[in-house]
Amino acid sequence: MKEHSKPIPQPMPWTKRFWEGCKKGELLIQKCKHCNKFIMYPKLFCPNCLSNDLEWVRSKGTGKVYSYSVVYSYAPTEFADDVPYIVAVIELDEGVHMMSNIIESKPEDVRCDLPVEVVFKETNQDFVLPKFKIIR
Ligand SMILES: [Zn+2]
Repeated sequence: MKEHSKPIPQPMPWTKRFWEGCKKGELLIQKCKHCNKFIMYPKLFCPNCLSNDLEWVRSKGTGKVYSYSVVYSYAPTEFADDVPYIVAVIELDEGVHMMSNIIESKPEDVRCDLPVEVVFKETNQDFVLPKFKIIR
């Protein structure tokens, strides 16, 4: 289902590839060719060794709930109709963290450390966002 009239991310030159990957159903993360660390969110330099020799690799798209919060009320914005919704920090199997939403679960069914996998949701304005669902 398409979502309408919500703000969408504004891609920067160093995040453009990430958003292009989402559009193709690929969760892309960066990897430093110098120290081999995975990097998320997209950066121009490795935060570990400061090398700018980075490559894009496809994440397995699986991980676990590292932390989460449930939004039960919200100021009247484009997100007000979504409450309650789950905002979560996901720890990908590659070891990096990213913030997203957990969808297709009731808030009371979510726990830290539950396994999740990425699902790509098309929004308005031809944009695709990575969200996560609990793997049963
Ligand atoms: Zn590095």
